[in-house]
Amino acid sequence: MGKLPDKRLVRCPRCETPLEVSRNAKSTLCPGCHQNVRTEDDAVDTYCARREFFTEGEVTVGKKGVLIAEVRVVRLVVQGEVKGTVQARESVVVAKTGRVYGDIRTPVLSVEAGAQVTGRCEFGPGLAQLRAPEPAVDAGVSAA
Ligand SMILES: [Zn+2]
Repeated sequence: MGKLPDKRLVRCPRCETPLEVSRNAKSTLCPGCHQNVRTEDDAVDTYCARREFFTEGEVTVGKKGVLIAEVRVVRLVVQGEVKGTVQARESVVVAKTGRVYGDIRTPVLSVEAGAQVTGRCEFGPGLAQLRAPEPAVDAGVSAA
């Protein structure tokens, strides 16, 4: 029996440096920008406000979840509310109960009937690479 590949390739959401992490790693340190990169899947089921919500994984915002942040993930499912710019490397699904107030940029966007999106949507092949993060003007606010 050969060794099964248990690594996956992700990219730093800040500087796009490719990173090889073990499949069940929760985070890794980016050698490009020396910042911690979350690589775990996550769920938001309560009120959550922060400057950045970055993870190289799938994030589900539940029906009672309110996420206020700049969002950078691999896949995003919105059943509750998101306020902020959203970038997802693979896909964004806005469920019929979902509301997004902010721009969405992703290769594949799926919006169910009844959902609300208030913002600019950019989707299609070739949008897997994330834009550089917006410069931090509010330097006094820490990225929790
Ligand atoms: Zn980096």
